[in-house]
Amino acid sequence: MEWEPIIGLEVHIKLNSPNKLFCKCKNTQEFEQTSPNTHVCPTCMGQPGGLPQVNMEPLKKGILLGLALGCQINHKSLFDRKSYFYPDLPMGYQITQEKLPLNVEWEVEFWTDDYTTKKKVRINNAHLEADAGKMIHEDGKAYIDYNRSGTPLVEIVTYPDFRSADEVVDFLKELQRRVKYNNIGYADLEKGQMRVDVNISVRKKWEDQYRTRVEVKNMNSFGAIKRAIEYEFKRQVEIWQNGGEVDQETRWWDDGAGQSYVMRSKENALDYRYFPDPDLPPLVVEQTLIDEVAKSLAKSGTQRIDEMVDWWFNKEYINAILGNFEISDLFDSLVSEGFEPKFVAKWIMNAIIRFMKQNQTSELPFDLEDFKEVLKLLRDGKLLESQAKIVFFEMASEGKEPQQIIEEKGFKPVDQGEILGWVQEVLQANPQAIEQFKQGDQKVIGFLIWQVMKKSQGKADPKLVRELILKEIG
Ligand code: ZN
Ligand code: MN
Repeated sequence: MEWEPIIGLEVHIKLNSPNKLFCKCKNTQEFEQTSPNTHVCPTCMGQPGGLPQVNMEPLKKGILLGLALGCQINHKSLFDRKSYFYPDLPMGYQITQEKLPLNVEWEVEFWTDDYTTKKKVRINNAHLEADAGKMIHEDGKAYIDYNRSGTPLVEIVTYPDFRSADEVVDFLKELQRRVKYNNIGYADLEKGQMRVDVNISVRKKWEDQYRTRVEVKNMNSFGAIKRAIEYEFKRQVEIWQNGGEVDQETRWWDDGAGQSYVMRSKENALDYRYFPDPDLPPLVVEQTLIDEVAKSLAKSGTQRIDEMVDWWFNKEYINAILGNFEISDLFDSLVSEGFEPKFVAKWIMNAIIRFMKQNQTSELPFDLEDFKEVLKLLRDGKLLESQAKIVFFEMASEGKEPQQIIEEKGFKPVDQGEILGWVQEVLQANPQAIEQFKQGDQKVIGFLIWQVMKKSQGKADPKLVRELILKEIG
């Protein structure tokens, strides 16, 4: 294939601060469950006299997102008005940061190709802005919910550094992890808490110049993003190959139909008439605030994957741990408490993920402390693997405490002296087996272990029994 796509992204992340960006209204996240137009005030409705004032919580989250992406934080940034007319925009302009954004210039490193390679993309900036209201089209009518008007967003603008749809999706997953691990937002694509616009052009691999780019919007899942990019790549290549020319335009992706439509062409492109918002003074961020925010910076997905790759985790393990944000935090906290990573990963897969899959739930089936307690007992040899499995299962399905299950089942720790006693009894009763072993018959060990297990009524750890037998025969 001589053609390659050149892709840049504009990603809007909805912050989960309690209030909107410039007023004290509630920052709703679940619009379907909230009565429309119940969280509005003169400021976010653009009424005369409603003056905007930056709230601290969204500002801190904006700074944290900048730090999570490795950006440099500007000590002074500016708010601009982006003017256009649309019913969901009561002020007739959106407050954004065009000339001097909060976070600027750095690069993000992320894993791609099933965790076999790392790639870097450059971030141009990550700026604060206020969202518009929400238009709902139903039965040939249009409704507007202004609960979303003025809610805080950070828009992240990348350089055109992506060369495939898979790279884009892997980057977006990493971005989503950083947003969630830092509790900056919920970043659910289907709920519009993360909105991705893709800029695509194509070129022959040896060309230096960029050709005309097209913006594609309205993708509500990672699958849709991948399909939209692949469709647009093919469409542009075909146009150039047939001697045509790609028009600069904005296209609307229809995932159900598997194709995109022209939404706006260059001829009717909007002139946003950006200018500094006279109601908002320059946003000054002192170093002390940045330092304070930096204290809560969480480990990134990239750093977590680095570690898992070092531990030789396969892609199934990594996907399982990263796939659920509660699980990745659980894994991280257990490892940081000194549990062996593979041991934890194995039990997360076998006990938690398996149960969640079987029961089709995304909720953790038991709480962290109980899980930790059982892992401790298991690690310290106070529970056998087979017993731990039973405890996990009952914890998950019946919501019981681990100690209660252990008592009910009579899972008493067997002490080593007792096991040694059984081993010695078995060896005394089977002198011919020892003789066979000394003559090189390894299989007889299995027979001896089985005899000891019988005596212990399944309570002894077979690994330990084996060790003790070998020591005794010496
Ligand atoms: Zn308001
Ligand atoms: Mn924007």
